[in-house]
Formats: sequence, C-alpha cells, structure tokens
Amino acid sequence: MRVELKSLREQLLRGTAAEIQSLKCPVCSSGLVIRYSEISQKALNVHCSDLSCFATHLDGLRERPDWVEVLGDLVETRKD
Ligand SMILES: [Zn+2]
Repeated sequence: MRVELKSLREQLLRGTAAEIQSLKCPVCSSGLVIRYSEISQKALNVHCSDLSCFATHLDGLRERPDWVEVLGDLVETRKD
C-alpha cells in the first residue's frame, strides 16, 4: 500500500519505533533509509533503498523524534 508523502512525514516526526520500521518507499514500496542528524539543526534525510527512486528531507525539526532513542540515528526498513 502506498503511503502519501504528507502521511510519511507525519509518521517520521511522530511515529513509534515499530511504525518507523514498517515505513516503505511511497513510490515503489521498497525499503527506506532514514537518517537523523543534528549537526547544525535537527533534520531527517530519507531515501528509497534505490537512490534514484525517491528522496526527501525534513529539517528545522523542533525536537528529536522519539523513535531515535530506540532505533538510533540510522534506520533501514525492509521491503516485503
Ligand atoms: Zn522507491
């Protein structure tokens, strides 16, 4: 099932660890690579396991997403 981009972003910010691990690429439903950083600002970089397929980033986050505590700052989700 496709996940709309707005919903994907919403889940990235507020999702539980389990929800993050179940996220899929909104274009091809493959796995996603999700990287959290706070070098200059809190930000998430997200791309499909196929780099040419899909990528997005969210920066200027107000707070670190809760799932980072559980999963760490680099998450690779699995495709089905
Ligand atoms: Zn993809």
